Amino acid sequence: MIYTRTPAELEKMRDAGKLLYEVLGQLKEMIRPGVTTLEIDREAERLIRKGGAIPSFKGYEGFPFTICASPDDQVVHGFANDKPLVEGQILSVDCGLILKGWQSDSAFTHPVGKISKEREKLIRVTEECFWIGAREAREGNRIGDIGYAIQKHAESHGYGVIRDLCGHGIGTEMHEDPSVPNYGRPGRGVRLREGMTIAIEPMIAMGDWGVYVEDDGWTIKTDDHSVCSHYEHTIAITKGDPEILSYPGFRFTEAKR
Ligand code: MG
Ligand code: MG
Repeated sequence: MIYTRTPAELEKMRDAGKLLYEVLGQLKEMIRPGVTTLEIDREAERLIRKGGAIPSFKGYEGFPFTICASPDDQVVHGFANDKPLVEGQILSVDCGLILKGWQSDSAFTHPVGKISKEREKLIRVTEECFWIGAREAREGNRIGDIGYAIQKHAESHGYGVIRDLCGHGIGTEMHEDPSVPNYGRPGRGVRLREGMTIAIEPMIAMGDWGVYVEDDGWTIKTDDHSVCSHYEHTIAITKGDPEILSYPGFRFTEAKR
């Protein structure tokens, strides 16, 4: 079932997105050498509950944390732990919350201290992939247009697009239809309609796109142990550029094309 949201429902998703944006902004500032992902996780839960919301990841199919903390070759779903972060690493933080019954889901990748030029570029290109894909997310286009745009940009830099994990519809549930792959063919897949709400989340590896699940049953790593970057927002489809619900006030400009 693919839903379209009423203006009143979108207003609630805007509130959830705004809170998540504020929480992630504060988490970003914590990331530096010596800090542990467990400290970041605890702060995330504190901030979400302070905002009157519930962490959506904690307890989701048994996931034990508020954030997914995935450094370096971990793609997504990494467990927070008490190991201090080390200069030169990159850390992906994925987080979601439920405010008054409505979900928001967003992720970013951030340097730990000073990082190599190659890693800086991977983070930048992954964010570009999101924006390039998001611009295709408009009424009348299809899901395949989003994935095609993301894949084309990532592969033009020689990167691998993770295929085992996808973006998704989002609303009162974190994962709803349709699935939003980061690869695809233009003009294929579900047709987008105004009011649909989806999470677009490119996961881009410096090497190949193959992945495996660690023994903990959650942590996903690249097969070749190349580093991976993740960037995600919850968006609403309109007739023009999408509204970025988890990035309040954001407006597309020529620079983001
Ligand atoms: Mg997420
Ligand atoms: Mg997601």
